[in-house]
Amino acid sequence: RAKAAGGNRYEVADPDSDARAITRHGLTNRLPTALERGEFFIEYQPLIRLADGSVQGAEALVRWCHPLHGVLGPDQFIPLAESTGQIVPLGRWVLQESARQAREWQRRSADGLPVRVNVNLSPCQLYHPGLVDEVAAVLEETGLDPTALCLEVTESALIGADEDALKPLRRLVDLGVDIALDDFGTGYSNLSSLRWLPISNLKLDRAFTRGIRQHPADPVDLKIVEGIVSLAHTLGLTVTVEGVETRTQAEHLGLLGCDTAQGWYYARPGPPDHLHTLTLADAMSA
Ligand code: C2E
Ligand code: MG
Ligand code: MG
Ligand code: MG
Repeated sequence: RAKAAGGNRYEVADPDSDARAITRHGLTNRLPTALERGEFFIEYQPLIRLADGSVQGAEALVRWCHPLHGVLGPDQFIPLAESTGQIVPLGRWVLQESARQAREWQRRSADGLPVRVNVNLSPCQLYHPGLVDEVAAVLEETGLDPTALCLEVTESALIGADEDALKPLRRLVDLGVDIALDDFGTGYSNLSSLRWLPISNLKLDRAFTRGIRQHPADPVDLKIVEGIVSLAHTLGLTVTVEGVETRTQAEHLGLLGCDTAQGWYYARPGPPDHLHTLTLADAMSA
């Protein structure tokens, strides 16, 4: 195929791309059966309320334990799953498993209150006709409170979306599910779209918080984040910051009024029990 031949030309100059080509080939063959073989698993990364440091919930991040290549991150196989359509069954599984897990956290929590779980939706899932019914079925089967589920969609998935295309999202909101706009600021951020998109949470991409990792923080970056937070709050949206890696960042972002934060400073993505431990520690220190 032309594409493969094009790839071969670069292999000579770049051994890395050779490795990637082989890997990609191996992945393409394996992907369709990986789900039934039980090769996917989910790691959860806590979302922290900046006001009091408590755990609000966690984002579900899928991984593939490949028999030859070891644990692969989503960036290594989600694009492939999207181009083959495998993302629809895979995404359905992530949703089911995350909802079941969130319900389990709730069962084991001291106060019995719902624990929130964030699940990423790819554009293919968003525009798949069965989405709303699937989400409704998962909520029904697991008994998860709809307000404990937040679906993350990227800005780029919504580019050019008209009223018709937004219908599934509006129906999800009607179910009580929250929608977050993920990786905000990395695409063509259309600020006026924040007015009419059916979202309740803005996730600021870590590109924004890079400049405030160390003292002294970049004053322009601080101003930009401050401006976005103020705009979001005016529009009734909460703001989550991604990729918080240092105490400096956490302090600045709290002062700038961000609502929740996620990042290595608090916790890396990890197994489900990890969150339970954090929540317990949280409850004990409260
Ligand atoms: P995302 O939704 O923006 O998720 C955040 C990514 O940032 C995760 O990468 C997470 O591990 C990473 N991260 C978190 N804290 C830090 C930090 O402090 N520093 C740095 N440098 N990185 C941090 P991950 O797990 O590799 O996921 C990458 C992307 O893959 C996600 O970006 C999301 O768009 C996509 N993805 C993950 N799981 C799923 C899924 O189940 N379905 C779909 N459609 N996409 C998924
Ligand atoms: Mg996300
Ligand atoms: Mg994100
Ligand atoms: Mg991101």
